[in-house]
Formats: sequence, structure tokens, C-alpha cells
Amino acid sequence: MGIRQEVLFKIKAVELDKINSPEKVSSYFGENTFSMRTMQKRISKATFTAFKAWMSEGKIITIDHANEVADAMKEWALSKGATYYTHWFQPMTGLTAEKHDSFISIVAPGKVIEKFSGSKLIQGEPDASSFPSGGIRATFEARGYTAWDPTSPAFIIESALGKTLCIPTIFISYHGEALDKKLPLLRSDEALNKAAAGLLKLFGHKDVKKVFSTCGPEQEYFLIDKNYYNLRQDLIMSGRTLIGAPSPKGQQLEDQYFGAIKERVVNFMFEVAQEAYKLGIPVMTRHNEVAPHQYEFAPIFEDSNIACDHNQLLMELMKKVALKHGLVCLLHEKPFGGINGSGKHLNWSLSDDKGNNLLNPGETPEENLQFLIILVAVLRAVYIHADLLRASIALAGNEHRLGANEAPPAIVSVFLGEQLTAILDMLEKGAKSKVSKRDIIDLGIARLPKFNKDTTDRNRTSTFAFTGSKFEFRAVGSSQNIATPITIINSIIAESLDYVTNEIKTVKGTGKDFNSEVLKVVSKIAKETKDIRFEGNNYSEEWVKEANKRGLPNVAATYEALEALTKEKNIALFEKYKVFSKEELAARYHIWVHMYNLTLEIEANTLREMVNASVVPAGYKYEKLLARTLHELIELEKSAGLKIDPVALEDKKGHLSEVVSKIYYVRRNINVMDKLLSEVKGLSNEKRAEAYFKELKPLMEHIRKHVDELECVVPDDIWDLPKYREMLFIK
Ligand code: ADP
Ligand code: MG
Repeated sequence: MGIRQEVLFKIKAVELDKINSPEKVSSYFGENTFSMRTMQKRISKATFTAFKAWMSEGKIITIDHANEVADAMKEWALSKGATYYTHWFQPMTGLTAEKHDSFISIVAPGKVIEKFSGSKLIQGEPDASSFPSGGIRATFEARGYTAWDPTSPAFIIESALGKTLCIPTIFISYHGEALDKKLPLLRSDEALNKAAAGLLKLFGHKDVKKVFSTCGPEQEYFLIDKNYYNLRQDLIMSGRTLIGAPSPKGQQLEDQYFGAIKERVVNFMFEVAQEAYKLGIPVMTRHNEVAPHQYEFAPIFEDSNIACDHNQLLMELMKKVALKHGLVCLLHEKPFGGINGSGKHLNWSLSDDKGNNLLNPGETPEENLQFLIILVAVLRAVYIHADLLRASIALAGNEHRLGANEAPPAIVSVFLGEQLTAILDMLEKGAKSKVSKRDIIDLGIARLPKFNKDTTDRNRTSTFAFTGSKFEFRAVGSSQNIATPITIINSIIAESLDYVTNEIKTVKGTGKDFNSEVLKVVSKIAKETKDIRFEGNNYSEEWVKEANKRGLPNVAATYEALEALTKEKNIALFEKYKVFSKEELAARYHIWVHMYNLTLEIEANTLREMVNASVVPAGYKYEKLLARTLHELIELEKSAGLKIDPVALEDKKGHLSEVVSKIYYVRRNINVMDKLLSEVKGLSNEKRAEAYFKELKPLMEHIRKHVDELECVVPDDIWDLPKYREMLFIK
């Protein structure tokens, strides 16, 4: 029996203690977070007022107030059993980072107390000089600083032997440059706030204090048994299978999608949700996805900053909880070839401080006009800055998905649905110089219908789809930190809102009718940006041709997509809105191209080892078996007069030669790959990425093709690597 077959016997669910009456979620939701309510109970009124002013108006609290908050936070954390604290941050790699410190402080020889000060709360010095800075920091001033982000509540992470207080922070350089994903997100929300407030004022909303983006990321993932995972170096090293023949049954019967969730998986989902609820993460929906062993979690939406932290935490929880259930959670965009990969639908909208969703049509013609102007502002933003949206989802893993007929293509387009399309088309034609109330009614916007999901959300192939009361950016990768896509959406929409505000302003005060002027702007923008709208099938060949005719960018390669971050027009945009400086953009461009290269190098090196140490030896064993039988048969023919059908003998020889050839091709291409890897060593970041995209990837695919053919003929008991049909179907 081969090692792989031994593992097959170990595939079973871990034993769990049955819970007969689970606790009500409302009784423990958020119990591990230092929420505003918890804080209020534990600090003085004056400090709480100061803290609230910091949150709403940005007035930073004094060190005395900070000391009080820090002390309350510490006491709360100690009461929960925490012994360590960490400033929790999200470096530019998109992961989360922690450096833990104990609360202890020495007060006398051999005597410690638990202590935590305001200054330690507000700023940390994790040093962290090994995080990439993309050239922002020279090594001699490599220190990075973490600064408390009070808008995201501190929380406690539990492990079997202890608890840690985590304080969400931003990560900055000595000179204040953003070294992380979160600071630009916060800055972009501020830009959006200013721009939206300007527009809302024109519509008479003088009392709106704040506008912010809201976000609900739908998280797709795969689960596989840990025993399989341990035998797959490719999954361990790169998160995806680099080789593996497709199983005869994949997703073609579509019997997995929304099907009954298997007991083992649903138990995993229960525990993830329970852990998430303790942290105040509002996980809402769970279901099977299209591919075998693929699933999804979706939360109730929150303001973007929190949604981002919560999504990072949820991904961590999913990985951790899966292990407890003998499973591994795969967040890679394309863990398996031949079946769907995983994405993260980023649902995005705008909200004011009173809880109004600005992408909801209203009750009056005026409110509907406001909705329409915001809608065309979004269209304009996507039209002009499609390159930036594409850049925001550019990473090696997602490159396998975009355009692979399972995810939106690399072409960015907007889907609005029939009703809205009809309204915009009508407005486009009927841009009158004077629009009366009657005209508004005739145009059908006096009472815009509530666009519910059923009437708008029929196009699952669109990159950027309006789904009732929000836009859904569907091309985001499953493993991605959502901060960057949100930052980019917020920034380009801030710019667009400013644009429409200015367009309207130029006519305001000239005595012309406000409503008709707004409608004119709506119709003008609807016309100018028409090319970004597409209601058809984004997976079709025709769309690729059509988009090309329309001049829409279609960038397949990550390194090319990232170039958007280096364009003058984009640098100017981000500098104007104070989201990224030129240097901060350059740093990100550098780091993300570099990460692409590192990812491909890890994959290539893993593939080489798997081929040399697993695939080829198995091939040789089979080759030997074939050669031996052939030899023995011929011997018997000679010595014992065994009658062998000449055709059968030829077939045997033919099969042996085929196997010999396949092994040869695999080995030859591995050598070609090695040569390529050593040739590109001295090249620049960009040139290397180009060579990897254009040469290395096709070569790896080619190697895979031959390996997969071998997998289908080599005897089952000498093939050590778990097969697709096992990993995806034996649960
Ligand atoms: P689906 O896209 O799978 O049909 P839904 O449309 O019901 O599912 O919702 C998907 C996600 O959109 C959920 O996570 C939900 O919280 C989020 N969402 C709903 N409204 C908003 C909003 N105004 N802003 C941001 N996200 C939202
Ligand atoms: Mg969705």
C-alpha cells in the first residue's frame, strides 16, 4: 500500500462533543471586543466625551485621557484573562502582523505588576525593519511605528493556553509615510467624506455630519482534509496545486452549489461563526459554492474600516478553526485547476451618519435626482479609472482567475440592470433645457422603483455590478486584503463626486432651474461614459472583441496592471486627495511586483522538487514494471514458445515508449525552466515579472500537462500525491 493510500484510511471527521442547547448569539456577540459601550462603562464621562470627539472630529485626546483609556483597556483585558498585548497591523504585503509584549512591569527585584500606559497604547515601536518598505525607509532608519486606530475596537484573541489583547493600529515610517494597508484606507474615507458632503450640501442636506463607505465582503474558500494537505508540498508552499489531473467529475453537474452542507463542514462553519461573533464580526450567510468542497461566508456590511479588519480576522479564524476540525482552509484564488477558483465579492456603498444609504433611490423626485447623480458619478469613476480598479486586484493568485471564464474578465465594466439602463438611455435622449415636474414624471424618475436584487442581480459575470442598493466589485481575489480595493474605489469616487458637484455648481446661482441642470449633468455623464456599461455576458468572446472596439483596457498580466500606480494622472489623483504620495505609490508598485516574482519563484522551485522527487521516481517505477514484463514475455516467447499476439506486443511496446517519452518531456522542460530562472536573475523587477508571465507560466503549464498524463497511467499504489478526486470528494 502506498503512503497516499494509507492516508485515505485516515480521512474522517474529528470527534466533537455535541452541544444540546447552544447559547443565543446575542448573549455573547462582541464579548471579546473593547467596544464603545464597554469603554464607556469603564472610563470617566470627561474622557469618554473626549474620546468621542476624537472619533467624530479628529481632535486627538490628551495623554491623561489616553492613560485612562489604556488603564481601562488593560483592566478589561486582564479581567478576561489576557496576559499579553500586541499592536495589530496590516503591512503592505496584505497579511496581518503582531508583535506581542507582556503587560508585566518590574516594580522591585523579583516583583512585577501588570501595567499599560497611554503612550504605549497610542504608539508602538515594533521596529519591524524586515517588513518591505518599497524604498521608503533606508535600513539605517528602518524603524516603523504603529499608531493606535481608535475607530476599530481592540479585541482579544484566544488560544488554548492564553489570551492576547490586540490593538488595531496603522503602521507608519518615522516621517509619517504609510507603510501599511490601513492608513490609505482611512485617508480615502476622509476624501470621500469631504467630496460627498460637498455634493449633499447642494441638495440641501446641511445637517449631514459624515459620509463614509460601507462594505460587505463575501468570502469564498475551499476546505480539504489535513491529511491530504500534508502530502501536497504545492499546497503547503504555494497554496495551490501545481500539478494534478482533473477528476472525472468536477463541477459539471452543479450538484454542490447551495446543496445540503455536509455535517463535517457545517460543524466547522458553526465554530467559525461562534468565534467570529465573540469578536463582533457579523457573519450572516454560509453556503456551498459551485466547485466541489468550495464554500462561502458573507457578513452583514459595516463601515469599510471595520469590515476590512473583520475580514482579515475572519480569514485568520477560518484557517485556525479548520485545523481543529482536521481540515485546512484554502484561501488561494485558484487552488485547483479545471474547476472554479475563489473570489471575494466586495459589496460597496456610501452611507451618511444618519444611516441613509446614498445608493438607494428615494421617495421624492429630488431624492431620486440625488441618487442618479451619485450613480453617474460612480459610472464616471469606473470609466476613467478602470486601470486603477484593475491594479487593485492584481496579484499572482488572482491572475489565474481573471478571464478564466469563471470570474469576471480583466476587462472592467459596469452592469446596471434593465430598469436603470432604460432610465439612463431615456435621460440621454431627453436632455431638455427645461425640465418640469411633469417631465420628471414622464422620464420615470419621480418614483424610482426600489431596485431589488431580483430585478438587478441577474448578471453574475459583471466586474462591477449594481445590485439593488450597492455596487459589487466581483473581481477581488479571495486571499486579498480588501483595504486596497476599497481605498481605490473610495478615491476615484471622491474625485468623481467633486467633478459632478463642480458641474452643478457652475449653473447654480445663474437662476436656472436646479433640477433641470442636475438632469443635464446626469445625461451628459451617462452619454460620455456609455462605453463602460455592459449588460451582456462578460465571459463571452464577443465581449472581449466589443470591449476592444470600445477601447476598454484588458490587461491580463499582473505586472502590467500594476503599472497604473506609476502613471502621472493617477499619481496626481492620489496626491490631490492625500491618499498616497508619489513615494507611497512607488513603494507599493515595487513591493507588489516583487511579491509576484517571489510567488512565481516559490511555485517553480516547488514544482521542480515535486517533479524530481515524486513524479519522476514514480514514473521510473512504472517504466521498470513495463520494461520487465515486456522483457519477460519476450523471454517466455523464446524459451517456452508462449504465443503472443504481435499486435498486443506492439501495443505494449508503444505504451512503454509513451511513458518513457512523457518522463523525458517532463525532465527536459524542468531543465528549460531552470535555465530560464537562472537567466532572469540579474534582470529588473519588471523585466523578471514579464519573463515569468510570458515564459515561466506557460512552461509550468506545459510541465503540468505531461505530469497529469503520467498521473493517469502510473499505478495508483505508487503515486504518492493525493489526487483531485480524493481531495475534493472524499470528505
Ligand atoms: P448576493 O450578492 O450573494 O446575492 P446579497 O446581495 O444579499 O448577496 O448581499 C451580499 C453582501 O452585500 C452582504 O455581505 C451584505 O452585507 C452586503 N451589502 C448589502 N448592502 C450593503 C451596503 N449598503 N453596503 C455594503 N455592503 C452591503
Ligand atoms: Mg454576491
